Amino acid sequence: MAQHEPNSDVDHPVGLAHCLQPAAASGLGRGAAAEFDPECELCEAARFTHWYYEDDLCWVADCEVCATPMVVWKRHGTEPPADELAAMLARLVEAGELRFGPGGGRVDQVMRQIPDHFHAHYRDADWMSRRWNEPPSRYSGVGTQRETR
Ligand SMILES: [Zn+2]
Ligand SMILES: [Zn+2]
Repeated sequence: MAQHEPNSDVDHPVGLAHCLQPAAASGLGRGAAAEFDPECELCEAARFTHWYYEDDLCWVADCEVCATPMVVWKRHGTEPPADELAAMLARLVEAGELRFGPGGGRVDQVMRQIPDHFHAHYRDADWMSRRWNEPPSRYSGVGTQRETR
């Protein structure tokens, strides 16, 4: 019932619920608990580094640890539906290619530091050395020119 009403999408992204369970319109129940974990760094979504992109589904910013672009799902969980996954990876590649040029890196979906919240990195070949040698980026708004500290 509440599947694609524009208002409910803005206030409260329900994309996952309606894909997985047709009866999800009945309430937030399990979904609400699974959507946000106050202990989780990715749920917190602190804005320290450069943010490339943000919408109701995800955000893309430089990872604080790796300094490469990272897409983060706006829900606390590990298994986004296929369409959401595809959309998120597309946003990630856009950000990565903006930073490193076309084909300048590759998507890394392994979740090492935070295994219980979906995120993926776009890594160029030199990401490990750059992380020590380059100044970190800083937050200056979403989709702005990338600035370093
Ligand atoms: Zn989380
Ligand atoms: Zn990282």
